[in-house]
Amino acid sequence: MREGCHHAAAMAAAQQLSHVYPLGARLDGRGRLQIGGCDALELAREFGTPAYVVDEDDLRARARAFVSAFAARTDDFQVHFASKAFACTAVARVLAQEGLGCDVAGGGELTMALKAGFAPGEIELHGNAKTPDELRLALDAGVGTIVVDNLDEVARVTGLLEERGATQRVQLRIAPGVSPDTHPSISTGGPNTKFGLNLADAERALERLAASPWVDVEGLHFHIGSQIMELAPFRAALERVTAALGTDFSAWNLGGGLGVVYGPDDAPPSIEDYAAGKVAMVRELCGPGKRVVDEPGRALTANSTVTLYTVQSVKRNVATWVGVDGGMSDNLRPMLYGAHCEVEVADRFGGETPCIVTGKHCESGDVLVRDALLADPRPGDVLVTPATGAYGFSMANTYNGQPRPPVVIVSGGDARLVVRRERYEELLSRDV
Ligand code: PLP
Repeated sequence: MREGCHHAAAMAAAQQLSHVYPLGARLDGRGRLQIGGCDALELAREFGTPAYVVDEDDLRARARAFVSAFAARTDDFQVHFASKAFACTAVARVLAQEGLGCDVAGGGELTMALKAGFAPGEIELHGNAKTPDELRLALDAGVGTIVVDNLDEVARVTGLLEERGATQRVQLRIAPGVSPDTHPSISTGGPNTKFGLNLADAERALERLAASPWVDVEGLHFHIGSQIMELAPFRAALERVTAALGTDFSAWNLGGGLGVVYGPDDAPPSIEDYAAGKVAMVRELCGPGKRVVDEPGRALTANSTVTLYTVQSVKRNVATWVGVDGGMSDNLRPMLYGAHCEVEVADRFGGETPCIVTGKHCESGDVLVRDALLADPRPGDVLVTPATGAYGFSMANTYNGQPRPPVVIVSGGDARLVVRRERYEELLSRDV
């Protein structure tokens, strides 16, 4: 009887598998989650849990959507993968193959991007506190652009270039003083932010850069935040920047930030509308013939990926606590800024038991989902949390000596391991 009920619920859910899941994901006739043509329970058995499962076709489709949306509106554009969102070589390689450039936030991501196959000239180095070593590494590699963040860096970059007798293209990161409606922890362009130069300092930086024969200031950059659900703040930021600093720059980099669907209430602009809006605002406010640069991270990777866990314990206190074999070590977002996460039993979608899904870490705050509705969860069940492809793997850590999970890429019924699970011995491998 109960099996039958679950079956019926699963079939109903099959028609409704939401946009939170990768594009090709579905429930099969038994109500089991299939992703990239692979069965979620079999993936859990083969690769263990927790595991990140990336749907390659979804990743490629989103990359193509970005490229074609910009290409339909301008000949002069660049789409750079903000690699911090999913700094995994194999994922980056897929995006390099799709013709994207790459934005790196430091020496580690630069090393990864080079290994993934991005042409050095298509790489852009970011960072509000780049070290001299990171700058040297970037210059040695021949990165296309250094995005200069502050006045100290102006001196450091021009000094290093002079020493080498080398020239370098740079953009200037501006803090436009605009805060989109997103969580303060992922708002980055407001009036008092650690990122970029305020408008007055930007003028000073431009004067100093103009005095150096070694730099070519190709453009201005701003990135106002992440998980942005409307286009108006980008326009407001661009208006402020052009009003203060003029339009005499060939490249305009409006950062990334496009929001994604994490739950039923999220309705971000489409990639099409986002690209159309950005191209139009650059044309209107900066004039024709300008290059538009974009740096999506979350919108490329978040929905491509799910995390699989195994339930280890079900405890009935005041609430029902479902303990899984991962948590804040593989998905920090719920703990860092209260991010919402969906969750289902991978072979019994559409449950009705209210539960709190917790991680295994020694922190009361290690809660993945506070308001889960699960189908009578039991130890041994495989749980799936969708939309974990952005800022999950990248922020993974080894708290409590937890080895970091593997990454499995699925497509057309094949699954390939691209990052293996960390081993206990590796946790000790830096001991001297
Ligand atoms: N560009 C810069 C400079 C960033 O700092 C970030 C993320 O914080 C991004 C792009 C990517 O943002 P998102 O993942 O929201 O697209």
